[in-house]
Amino acid sequence: MSEEPEPAAGTLRAEVREWLRAHVPAGPQPSVDTAEGFEWHRAWEREMAAARLSVISWPADYGGRGATLLEWLAFEDEYYAASAPVRVSQNGIFLLGPTLLGHGTSEQRARLLPPMARADEIWAQAWSEPDAGSDLAAIRSRAERADGGWLLSGTKTWSSRAAFADRAFGLFRSDARAEKHRGLTYLMFDLRAPGVTVRPIAQLDGEPGFAEIFLDEVFVPDADVIGEPGDGWRIAMSTAGHERGLSLRSPGRFTAAAERLAGLWRRTTGPAGSPGTAGAAGTAEAMGAAGSTAADRVADAWIAARAYRLHTYATAARLAAGGTLGAEASLGKVFWSELDVALHETALDLLGPQAEIPGLDGPDGRWLDGYLFALAGPIYAGTNEIQRTVIAERLLGLPR
Ligand SMILES: Cc1cc2nc3c(=O)[nH]c(=O)nc-3n(C[C@H](O)[C@H](O)[C@H](O)COP(=O)(O)OP(=O)(O)OC[C@H]3O[C@@H](n4cnc5c(N)ncnc54)[C@H](O)[C@@H]3O)c2cc1C
Repeated sequence: MSEEPEPAAGTLRAEVREWLRAHVPAGPQPSVDTAEGFEWHRAWEREMAAARLSVISWPADYGGRGATLLEWLAFEDEYYAASAPVRVSQNGIFLLGPTLLGHGTSEQRARLLPPMARADEIWAQAWSEPDAGSDLAAIRSRAERADGGWLLSGTKTWSSRAAFADRAFGLFRSDARAEKHRGLTYLMFDLRAPGVTVRPIAQLDGEPGFAEIFLDEVFVPDADVIGEPGDGWRIAMSTAGHERGLSLRSPGRFTAAAERLAGLWRRTTGPAGSPGTAGAAGTAEAMGAAGSTAADRVADAWIAARAYRLHTYATAARLAAGGTLGAEASLGKVFWSELDVALHETALDLLGPQAEIPGLDGPDGRWLDGYLFALAGPIYAGTNEIQRTVIAERLLGLPR
């Protein structure tokens, strides 16, 4: 949009756009949730790393370019606009990486960040447990003291792509007598270490995008503890801030999807509202629950994506001026996850029955897959019910 200020990053933006134009594979991309698709995406990450584009906001020593937050947002705009592949490294580069930059030792950063940037080591997040999801502090997996390190035992679940990943980071109870939020330690472990069993779980689309991780006295050296033993909760909250906040779901993802939605609407209905050749736009199916027309719903999604973009740039400017991102991250998380569901629902309604036939859902494809994944948005990164509680208590100051 020409009337919106283009963020800084002119030369980087131009380089990224050109590089993506030359490198993003034409044609369909395999799912990241299968063994072959996972390796396909690893190869893509390596190609980006070779161009020093995999982690542009990290310091150069670790494979980055020291890009500013605004430059990174520009990169993300270009990335999604080019329909570039899903970031298979996302748990590492967007969650663990920033956590190590903030809380790790220089030895950990030098040892772990470069292979993460090159996708030589792809990381899974091992936080949730069968009886600890929203109430993360209820975790029961244990870390027991051993000579030179710790022995991990217990069960983790819903770990995205852990069936194929190399290593994982998680919280473990290291002091059973301490109060629930204390006595937790943040540790990293090898998913192929002796004592680790990984069992894939099929997701809604049938692919093994999750896994359970069973740990039976898995040895982890002291060097793989992040921060101090017992300080895991505080560090985990910093990881969660990255997950809900700027890094995991940048606005480029939604502005690009909203542009594609507008394109789909033009093809199926046309700006004049005349019925097109495909889809159900203009019919009852394309009406929202409140009776709004397809055009209104497309416009709402488009405006919401731009609003999220502006909100994110405002946050980035505040952070650049030395501010911090605290409970406000929950606002963004609720907003993008609900926007994503509404946007994909609108696309499916525009397509009508064709939405269910792969390849017939238009040149952008994958609306149905996108919808199924969007449904998970209100659940992962902390459910929206929990985020609303955070907003009520910590931002609005309502009683507990
Ligand atoms: C696509 C996807 C990817 C994921 N990837 C990972 C991953 O890589 N690693 C990982 O560790 N986990 C992952 N998760 C798990 C995710 O973090 C949990 O599903 C989430 O934290 C909720 O926990 P739960 O499933 O145990 O549900 P529960 O905590 O049992 O919640 C069930 C329902 O009750 C509601 N509820 C619970 N407590 C409250 C409360 N106090 N007030 C109001 N409502 C409440 C919840 O909002 C929810 O609707 C992923 C989940 C999804 C869907």
